[in-house]
Order: sequence, then C-alpha cells, then structure tokens
Amino acid sequence: MVSPPLHLRNYIGGHFVDVPARLESRDPSTGQVTVTVPDSDRGHVDEAVKAAAEAFKSWSKLPVQQRTDYCLKIAAILESRLDEFAEAESRDQGKPVWLARAVDAPRAVLNFRAYAESLNHELMTSNTPTPGVLNYTLRQPVGVVAAISPWNLPIYLLTFKIAPAIMTGNTVVCKPSEFTSVTAYKLAEVIQEAGVPAGVVNMVFGSGPGAGEALVTHPEVKLVSFTGSTAVGRHINQLCAPHFKKVSLEMGGKNAAVVFGDADLTEAIPTLIRAAFVNSGQVCLCASRVYVHSDIYEQFVELFVKETRSKKVGPPCSEGVFMGPVNNRVQFEKVKRYLEIARDEGGVIRCGETVDPPLNLPEENAEGYFLQPTVITGLSDGSRCMQEEIFGPVTCLTPFDSEEEVISRVNSTQYGLCASVWSSSLSTVHRVSEQLQVGTVWNNCWLVRSLDMPFGGIKLSGIGAESTRESIEFYTNWKTVCVKF
Ligand code: NAD
Repeated sequence: MVSPPLHLRNYIGGHFVDVPARLESRDPSTGQVTVTVPDSDRGHVDEAVKAAAEAFKSWSKLPVQQRTDYCLKIAAILESRLDEFAEAESRDQGKPVWLARAVDAPRAVLNFRAYAESLNHELMTSNTPTPGVLNYTLRQPVGVVAAISPWNLPIYLLTFKIAPAIMTGNTVVCKPSEFTSVTAYKLAEVIQEAGVPAGVVNMVFGSGPGAGEALVTHPEVKLVSFTGSTAVGRHINQLCAPHFKKVSLEMGGKNAAVVFGDADLTEAIPTLIRAAFVNSGQVCLCASRVYVHSDIYEQFVELFVKETRSKKVGPPCSEGVFMGPVNNRVQFEKVKRYLEIARDEGGVIRCGETVDPPLNLPEENAEGYFLQPTVITGLSDGSRCMQEEIFGPVTCLTPFDSEEEVISRVNSTQYGLCASVWSSSLSTVHRVSEQLQVGTVWNNCWLVRSLDMPFGGIKLSGIGAESTRESIEFYTNWKTVCVKF
C-alpha cells in the first residue's frame, strides 16, 4: 500500500503552522512524490522574522551557559533518534542509509555539541585530540583586493585598507575617491620609493560608476573593501553577491550623543562640538543628533550655541581656523538643501547658516564651499534631518526625559555606526551602551580609537569590522589541514 505524502509545516514562534500552497518533493530513488512542502510567501517570512526578532530580545540576554545547555540538549535528543534521522535523510536525499548513519546524522549531533562546548569555553582549538590524526589550520590570503575609499578621510581610510591587506599577503588595487586622489597618488610614490615589489599595491583613479564598478566586478577580484555611502555600498554588495566575493562595507551613519543630567558639561560641550563639526561634519562618526536630558536642556543649548559661534571658519591654511569648507559642490548644495528641509519640518536654526552674518572670507575664497557650523532644535525624531545622513556641519539638539525613552529614540534610525554617552554614573554608561544598536559607543569621550578594537557599523552602516584581529579574519581565508599519521 502506498502511504500518503508526508505533509510538512512551517515552524514559526514555537508552533507548527500549515501553509495551503504546496510544493511537491520526490523520493530520488523512485521519482514518486513522498513529501509536500510549504510554498511560503512574503507574509510567512515576515511572521517568522517577527517571531525571531521578538525572541532575540531574551535569547540574546541569556547567560551563555544556558544557551550551551540548550545546544547540548538538542545534541542528546538527536543522538537518541539517530537511526530515524539517518533513514529519513537517505530517503529524501538519495544517499545510502549507511552513509547517513555514519556521517550525516552523527555530524548533526557533533555540530551542536562541538559549538556548544568550544564557544562556551571561548576556545579555538587547532588540534583535535583524535588519535592518529593531526588537524591544523592555515590562514591564507584571499587574492587580489579592491580597496574603494571615500573623499572625507582620503589617506587615513585608504591606508587602513592597504596595510592589513598586504600584511596578510594580498595584493591591492585601490580606487580612491575621484574627489580626493592626490594623497593616494603621493602614497604610490612612497610605496615605490620603499621598494615594494611591483604590482603589490596599485592605484586606479577614476569615477565610481566607471573605474570603481569595473574593479569590483572584475572576476579576479576576490575581496572588496569599501568605505563610502550606504547607497553605493548597497549597489556594490549587489554586484558582488552573485560572485560570492568577500565584502566589507563601512557606510553612512546618523550618530547620536546622549547627555544625561549628571554629565560634566565642561567636558561634554567642547567634545561634542568637535564631534559635530570637525572636518566640517564630514566624518562618518560625527554626532548629528544630540539628546540632552530635559533638566539641563536649556542650559546645554545656550552653552553649545555660544561655543559653536566662537569657532572660526575660514580657509584651511589660515591660522586658528576650526573648520574649512565642505569637500565639493554636490555636498555643499546637499547640506544647504537639508537646512531648507529642516525649516519646512519645523526646526529652529539656533546658529550658523542663514541666521548668523555671512562669513567674512578673503576674496579668493568667495566661491569656496564654506558653511558655518549650524545648530538646529525643535525637530521631531521622524524628520528627515533626524533620520538621514547630512554629512556636513549641522547637528540637531533635542530633549529627553527618561533613559528608556532615549534608548529607543537613539535606536530609531536605520543606521548603526556609533554613539556617545555622557554621564558621571558608571552604571548608567554601561547599561545604556549595552542597549544602543551601534558598532561603537564612546562614553564621556569621542573618537578615542584603538586599532585593536573592532570597528564597524551595523544596520545600514555596514557589514564586517576592521581591527588588528578582525582584519586578519577578513583578509584571509581559513584552511583546515587534516593529516592521518
Ligand atoms: P560614495 O559612496 O559616493 O563614494 C565612495 C567611493 O565609492 C568612491 O571612491 C566612489 O568613486 C566609489 N563608487 C561610487 N560609485 C561606485 C560604483 N558604482 N562602483 C564602485 N565604486 C563606486 O561616498 P563618498 O561621498 O565618497 O563618502 C561619503 C560617505 O562615506 C558618507 O556616507 C560617509 O558616512 C561614508 N563613510 C563611512 C565611513 C565608515 O567607516 N563607516 C568612513 C568614512 C566615510
């Protein structure tokens, strides 16, 4: 007698859920339909993602030992049903039962057991204690690396890519920003002078859509390290995905600062002015949203605006200048457009562009892309100026009342690069840091960097991280070598 096909269901939020639309699955050894499988649509996926996001809130906070216990329990149950799993795998996939019993099913057990045990002890073993077998790992360079860098920190970011790439044995083709190619060119001179063998570091100058795109899509390029805007990063990721290239994307941000009522304002205000306006606000880590506790908000705004007004804007080579122009016309126009948007959205410009007297610049700088450091208040969290990356000398101040409220407001953007927290309470800074959805949180400081600490964004700010350790991961491939002796 032929049994009816096995009817599979989705598993969402701890429940088995039926899906009317079905796909047929055949036993490879007979060609007969033996299983029907859900043909899930976007709605089902959405339900599952929502369930997972909900579960993440508590699972991510569970002590590691408890996660370990769960995984060990899964391993034990799988093991007790080993024959059943082996037979089902064999029927569905077509491999001999003995193979599934010897390899596939036990390996499933081992995966859970091994990860549970080794991650629990934070161990990385390079030598499994199997008699007669030596396992070891090699780290090998990936190959030709494409390094694509932006215009805001041209030599800083380009060298941040080249150094780890070549140290780990890769060779590099760089495509610096078409807006800022000079120091990259000079770096090529330095590299030649240092006697680095020909071809190890190469620079290709040009536009993004031209040279840049040709580089990242070149079949020989195995790894792309990109720093730039989220829009271009997304496009590059799409181009690379079909070729399974390794990709690291360091992209835009909408970084927040949170100033609690017990913060030391003599430290916080000058540092946050630097955080907002240094390099004309064109550092991906700049603070463009400043949340200030309502108890000190008015005082903070007054001091912040006063000190911002004291900052000198002018030609970059002039004495005592805090801020030069923004990098290019496109950026200049873009920032000015955002100031109009801020007004339309109900924002109040407290100092800087459009409210303070125009800059008194030397005649030769009349056509330069100068903008004054600009402080805006009165914008809602949902406004474009509070959500989108302006990447210029503009920052928005806004009051908050409670810790819980400010954490949720800081997290309410698509970006996740960095944040800073200002408080004299250690427990506050630790508690808040843990809950902010960003790659880096500075407490009572900003832009204090150690190359040994991972640097990278989450959400729309990036994938991958860079640091002495993380860069080794990225710029090398693992190889496991097993020797039977
Ligand atoms: P961009 O994305 O316009 O350009 C970055 C680089 O990509 C340039 O070299 C450009 O020529 C190249 N490019 C453009 N289109 C391309 C394509 N189709 N294929 C391949 N390459 C292409 O960024 P930008 O305006 O130069 O820089 C500003 C942005 O960089 C901001 O969003 C800023 O936040 C971001 N940024 C991020 C970090 C970080 O570490 N997360 C650091 C610095 C800057």
